[in-house]
Parts: sequence; structure tokens; C-alpha cells
Amino acid sequence: MTNLTSTRLNEAQQMIYTISNVCRAYPEYENRNINSVSKRDDDTLIITDEDGKTFTEDAKPVQQAFTRFTNRLPHFFKYLNPSYGGKVHFKEGAYMLCKGDYKFGYKNQRNTTLEQLQLKFVNGMKKLKENQPYARPSDLAMILQRTSSDYSSVPEEFRQPPLGYVVYPYGLPEVPKEQQIEIQNLFDLEDDAEDIDITEIKDKDNKPKKMRTPYCFCPSYQRQLRCVSQLKDEIEGYTIGCKHISWIQKFDEFLGRKSTLEMNLENKASEKVVVWGFFPSDHPKGQGVFRVFYSNKGLHAPKKDWKELRENDKPYTVHDVWNLFHRMLSKEYVPYCGHQSNGTPINQALKEVFKCH
Ligand SMILES: [Zn+2]
Repeated sequence: MTNLTSTRLNEAQQMIYTISNVCRAYPEYENRNINSVSKRDDDTLIITDEDGKTFTEDAKPVQQAFTRFTNRLPHFFKYLNPSYGGKVHFKEGAYMLCKGDYKFGYKNQRNTTLEQLQLKFVNGMKKLKENQPYARPSDLAMILQRTSSDYSSVPEEFRQPPLGYVVYPYGLPEVPKEQQIEIQNLFDLEDDAEDIDITEIKDKDNKPKKMRTPYCFCPSYQRQLRCVSQLKDEIEGYTIGCKHISWIQKFDEFLGRKSTLEMNLENKASEKVVVWGFFPSDHPKGQGVFRVFYSNKGLHAPKKDWKELRENDKPYTVHDVWNLFHRMLSKEYVPYCGHQSNGTPINQALKEVFKCH
């Protein structure tokens, strides 16, 4: 008999110790039908299968699986906007991030109506800001995520899917001291808010540096926010995050490396160039193909100086893209997108390839 007690999971523990996260940490459970997961006060999980058989496992790998999954990096096209760009600034450090599936997803996810609607926001964001001076980032989040209370009476399957998300990738704007106090009085917030806002990170020289914590209006982030102190009790050094923040950070890194490379060329046009393009599949479950053309003779090189990058005759998919960009930039090739929004091909030599888009 053991005198260790297992208690009901609190909200944070219910998020962490899910059956999916147990299977992510311990893949051998995928074939056993798990019925329930509970936790003992010695940091051990009790896993019960459908036959009532119990197993004990260390909780830590499940916590790590939860953190990894929450902050996973989606592929390049997952949040690329229909103009082939990244985030679009709205106001006060808040940005719109588009769901990429309507233009770049599987055939059965693609939807030109929603893509056109997204384009209206991408191209009209400046105007929207001027016309709606009192609209807050949370209002935009409600419209894009379709979370308005007007939708709550509509059954979920008939609700429009979300167009995108609103993220503060560099943290919430600073609130004047007087207003902070007012908010504290109203909602009786504890000092936790301070922790959410500032994170200590290490800079290039490994010195601690304070950074404002990114913020996102997505359901995953908001759920973590609701029980942040429980999460911090459960996982040492826990910081809130989500896949949208991870994607923006990776995209920023990509743009940063590209502009450093261009700066190092001191305004001379690069000879080593890459033109990339994405060609969606017509198969309902097809991934689409990512194609990369390179030249050592500059962007306007004639056809004979362009080669397509290939490996073992297998086409590249959306999942290869981050890694391919990393390789191009490491070898000092400047990447360009081959799809131009004005319809003019980026160069004459490749116009055959890009003509269909
Ligand atoms: Zn998010």
C-alpha cells in the first residue's frame, strides 16, 4: 500500500497531462487505449487503460511534451499571407497573422472567397486603422477569429472558419502607471501580471536581457493565461507561448538573416540568387510542391544559367521550406519569391514556371 495521494487535476494539469501528451512523451501508450490520467504528489502519473490496468510514469517528460507541442513551429506556408508576406501591422504593436490554408493548403482547404477576404485586410490595413480609430486589437482579433458573441448561437460546424489571428510578437504596449492601478483595483489582479509581461532571455553574449513577453489572442494562449500561476507551479520556469508566436519569431529570423546578407553585399546586387515558388496540389490530400531555382549570375541571368535544386528526384514539400531557407542563406544565396502580385514574372528565364499563378 502506498500513502501517496492522487488528487483531481487542476486546470493547468488538465492541459498538460492529456492522453495525447502522454502518448507524445511515451509513444508505447499509443497502442494501449488510455482511459484516464491522474497525478500523485510525488510527481508520478497514474495511467489507467480501458481494462482498468494501471501504469506509473514520471510526469516530467509529459510536461516537456506539452511545452514542445504548445510552442511547435508550423511550416512556412501555414501563416504566410496571400501576398506571400508575414505578419501585417495593425496598431500599438499588434499584428494580423493570416491562416495560410486557404491559399496554400490541401485542395479541400483552399477557399478563394476567404483568401480574397484576407487580402482585403492585408492590403487595406492602413485604411482600416484610419477609418476605425477606436478599434482595438482585440476587436480585430474577434473579427478574424470569429469569436464574437454574435456567433455563439450558430452551431460550430456552420461558423465561418477563422481568417487569422492577432499577435503582439514583441509584447503588449506599456500601460501608463495610473491606468495599471485602476485595472488592478477593478479586477483585483495579483502581481502575476508583472511576470507575464517581462521575460528574461540571454543575449548573444549570454548576458541576461529583459524582453517583453509576446501575447496572442488565440484560444491556446488565452487558456494558458487563465491559469498561468498553476502552470508555473507545475512546470519550473514556465513561459506562455503558442505556435503563432513561434512562427513569427522564425519568420523574423529569416527576414533578419536575409537583410544582413543583403547589407553585407553593400548594395551591389547579389550574383548568388534563388527564386522559389509554391505549386499547390490538385489532389484533395496532396501537399503541393515547393520548387527552388538557383543561379550564380544574378536575378536577370539567361535561362541557361538557372538550375533547379533537387534531391534524389523527390519534390520538396512545405515541410522542407524552413530548412531550405536556412541552407540558402548559410551559403549566401539571396532568396526571392517567384510569384509576383502584379502578375509580371520576376525574370524572363523563369516565366514559364511561374505563369500559372
Ligand atoms: Zn497564438
